[in-house]
Amino acid sequence: MPDYVRIASVIDDSIVDGPGIRMTIFFQGCAHNCAGCFNPETWDFDKGHLCDIKKIYNAAMENPLLSGITLSGGDPIYQVSNALKLIELFENTNLDIICYTGFTIEELFEMEKNNKDLQAFLRKIDYLIDGKFDITKKDISLKFRGSSNQRIIDMKKTFKENKIITTDFSDYSN
Ligand code: SF4
Repeated sequence: MPDYVRIASVIDDSIVDGPGIRMTIFFQGCAHNCAGCFNPETWDFDKGHLCDIKKIYNAAMENPLLSGITLSGGDPIYQVSNALKLIELFENTNLDIICYTGFTIEELFEMEKNNKDLQAFLRKIDYLIDGKFDITKKDISLKFRGSSNQRIIDMKKTFKENKIITTDFSDYSN
């Protein structure tokens, strides 16, 4: 039985959703209701379409130029169990994983206490770009973020050092 994620769309070669060339998967479904959201068509949890995670993996593997995979939306955290299965397919590749979410990392640390899949997911992704889009803090000069409250968090370093470590990707290489 295949595993599916409900998605709005996929961009095969994005250069705006993280460093390098990335496959970006826009998950369907979001309840954060950010004023000024760029993707309100992704809010409805019943719209979009189901996509076999193997198909996403196979498509990514056909592109030798990719640096990584970006999960965007919508908010992938609402489908974290299957998002986890999806990113596990990439574990033995050289592709890194970025996840956008409207939750803050502090909220996710609370939520993971009752959610083993979320626990695993947060430890397997490389970067989390967190927080709702706040139109009062909109800043078009920011790379890969819409508003200044959002943080790019290096998840491997965060768990290693046991404190939140942010990055601007200036030391990124892949
Ligand atoms: S979290 Fe993202 S997709 Fe969801 S409402 Fe906010 S900006 Fe839109």
